[in-house]
Order: sequence, then C-alpha cells, then structure tokens
Amino acid sequence: MLNRFLPNEHVKNIFEVSPTILKEKGIKGIITDLDNTLVAWDVKEATPDVIEWFKLMKDNGIKVTIISNNKEERVKMFSEPLGTPFVFSAKKPLKRAFKVAAKQMGLAKEQIVVIGDQLLTDVLGGNSAGFYTILVVPIVKTDEKITQFNRRIERKILNYFRNKGMISWEE
Ligand SMILES: [Mg+2]
Repeated sequence: MLNRFLPNEHVKNIFEVSPTILKEKGIKGIITDLDNTLVAWDVKEATPDVIEWFKLMKDNGIKVTIISNNKEERVKMFSEPLGTPFVFSAKKPLKRAFKVAAKQMGLAKEQIVVIGDQLLTDVLGGNSAGFYTILVVPIVKTDEKITQFNRRIERKILNYFRNKGMISWEE
C-alpha cells in the first residue's frame, strides 16, 4: 500500500532532469509542482536558472505544465511570465488535475513525467493517475502551514523507504 508513495526516481533538484534523459525514455511532457519544487514556496517569480530550464525544455520540444494546490494568484503570477500552462487549486493527490494537464498537452500518460517535492500530494497523485514520478528534495525546509502536517507523515514514510533501502538520499 505504501508503494503508492514511492517515486520512480528521486533527484536533488529539477536541474538533474535533462531533456536528453527524458527523450531517451520517450518523454514529451512534464507535469511539475511549483512550491518548493521550482522555487521556494515564498518566492514569487522564477529564478534565472528556472527560466533557463523551461527554455531548455521548450527548445527540446518537451512541454511543461505547472500544477499546484496553491491559489490562482500565486500560480498565475509565477507561470504566466514563463508562458507555461498551469492548473491552480489542483487538489493533489486527486487525479483530476493531472489528467486535465495531460489532455491539454495532448500526450499519453506514458509520455509524461510528474515532478514534485511531496509524497502525499505530487507522488501519490502522480502514481495514482499512472504517471512516472520524480521526487525532488524540497528547496527550503520551511513550508506553508498547510503542508507542515503532511511533512510529518511524509517523514515517517521516507524513513520506512530508507530503512528498506528503497530510497537513498540524505536530507
Ligand atoms: Mg510542493
């Protein structure tokens, strides 16, 4: 049952996700979380390296959609300057937003990876909806209040995976 929380892959940050590796896997699209995945949750705009990463994906024909449980104002303000589609108030881990994003990109779920920093929303939702999931280390250790409870449960699950040797990174 806990396997629903197990990502297919885990990386330090989004910059380890490269177009070359994705293309080798036949991936043509990315569904990514925003807060603590692309930038710290309290940073309003994309940083230069994030802008560069989006450009790199675009130049390689890989579509990116941001899906976030955060409010419209936050997600729109971040995504629009990047010219990237977005879904706000996504209610992850529910599958709906993932499916909407895939449909909008016109891609099958086998052609998409889901990236995020939370097991209880991004990974659980992505796995449940049938996508390949990539967990990143949260950019900052602090979180919005709403996330702090999830983090406590997440720590327990991560420890379980670590003890089983299923996941291997130090925080
Ligand atoms: Mg997040």
